[in-house]
Amino acid sequence: MEVRRTVPVKLEVTDSDADSLRETIQQFLGAANYVVDAAYDGEWVETRKSVLHDETYADIRDRTELHSNHVQSARDRAVDALKSTVAKWQRGKTASLPTFTSPFCEYNRRNATFHDDHATLSTVGGRITAEYVLPDEDRDTPHSQYLCSDDYETTGATLHYREAADEFYLHVRTKADVDDPDPPENGTVLGVDIGVENIAVTSTGVFWSADELDHWHREYEKRRVSMQQRGTRDAHDAIQRVGETETGRVEQLLHCVANELVDEADERGCSHIAFEDLTDIRDRMSGGKRLHAWAFRRLFEYVEYKAEECGIAVERVDPENTSRRCSSCGHTAKTNRPSQETFECQRCGYENHADYNAAKNVGYRLLRDQTGSGGGAPVGVRLNTGMMNANGVMPVPESVRAGVHGESPRR
Ligand SMILES: [Zn+2]
Repeated sequence: MEVRRTVPVKLEVTDSDADSLRETIQQFLGAANYVVDAAYDGEWVETRKSVLHDETYADIRDRTELHSNHVQSARDRAVDALKSTVAKWQRGKTASLPTFTSPFCEYNRRNATFHDDHATLSTVGGRITAEYVLPDEDRDTPHSQYLCSDDYETTGATLHYREAADEFYLHVRTKADVDDPDPPENGTVLGVDIGVENIAVTSTGVFWSADELDHWHREYEKRRVSMQQRGTRDAHDAIQRVGETETGRVEQLLHCVANELVDEADERGCSHIAFEDLTDIRDRMSGGKRLHAWAFRRLFEYVEYKAEECGIAVERVDPENTSRRCSSCGHTAKTNRPSQETFECQRCGYENHADYNAAKNVGYRLLRDQTGSGGGAPVGVRLNTGMMNANGVMPVPESVRAGVHGESPRR
C-alpha cells in the first residue's frame, strides 16, 4: 500500500533569492489565471487539459520567464479549479470562476531537487538554494520521520509565501510503500460526522451532501411565504400540508442515508458505528442553517434500527473538539479549521475536508473510550485506505483529498 505525507518546512533564503521566489510566484499565479481566462468564452468553460495546453502554453512561455514545468503545473491547477467550479454548477450551486490570489507555486522533481536539509528550486532568476529550517533532530517530528527517512521518497512540493511574516514554506510531498496492515475481522469502527453541509460523512470517506435537503427546504419555504400572503383559513391548512410533505421527504431521504451508511459499515466489516452525542446538536445548527436537530435524531434512530439487524453496535461519543483535532497527528486548535469545508493542521500540515477529518476523530474517540474496557472493545477505525489503530495513524492518500489550493472566489 502506498502512503503519502506532506511535511511543511520553513525556508531560509538570501534577500535576492527571496525576490526571485516572489516573482516566480507572481508569474505562476498569473499563468494559472491566464488559463482560467482562456477557458471561459462567456458561456462555456473548457476543462480539457490538452485543448487548454494548445491554447495557452506558447503564450505563457512568451510572456513569462517560468520553467516549462511551472507553466504545466499552473495549467493543471487551473484545470482542477475549473473542474471543481463546473461540478458545483452541475449540482445547481452558484460558484464564480476561480481566481488564484493566495501566493503559492508548485514544484516537482524536474524543476526542483530535494535533499535532507535543503532544496534547489527553479525561479525566474535561475536556480536557487533554499535551506530547511529544521527542528531538533532528537524529537520525533514529521521532518525526521518523513523528510530524512530512507523509506519515504520526495515526489514534489508546494511553495507557500506567508506575506504578513515575509516567510517561505515548502510543503514537501513524500510517499512510501508500507505493508498493508491485517484488518481484524471484528472490533472495527466506522466513524460518522454529521453536519450542515453534509448530512453525514464516514471515516471511510463517503459523503452524503445536504444540497438536496436545502433545495427542497427553499422550495417549500417559497410556497409557504406565498400562501401566508393570502392569509386565509385555506392558506393556513395548505401551509400545514406543505410542512407535512417536506417532513415526509426529509424522512425518506434520511432513511436512504441510514441504509447506505449501515451498508457501508457492513461492507467494510465494521462491528461498531460511532456518532457524536447529539444531545447538544443545536450548537452545530447556528447561522440559520436548514437542518434541524430532529432530523439528526431521526437519522440516528434509523441507523440504530437498521444496524441492529446486521449485528452492528451504534455508539455515541463526546463531540468536543472532533472538528478541531487533527486526525493525523492529534494537534487540536481552532486555527486548524480556517473555513467550513477545510481542515489544515497547523502543526503537521495535514489537509483534508473538515467533515472527513472529523469523522475519523469520532471513530478514534470511540476507540479511546473503549480501549482497555475488556472483551468486545473495538480495536481499529476503518478508513478509506486501511486501518487507524490506537498507536499509529494511517495517513490518507492525496487522491481522496478534497478541495483546491490557492483558489478564492472571483470578486
Ligand atoms: Zn496534524
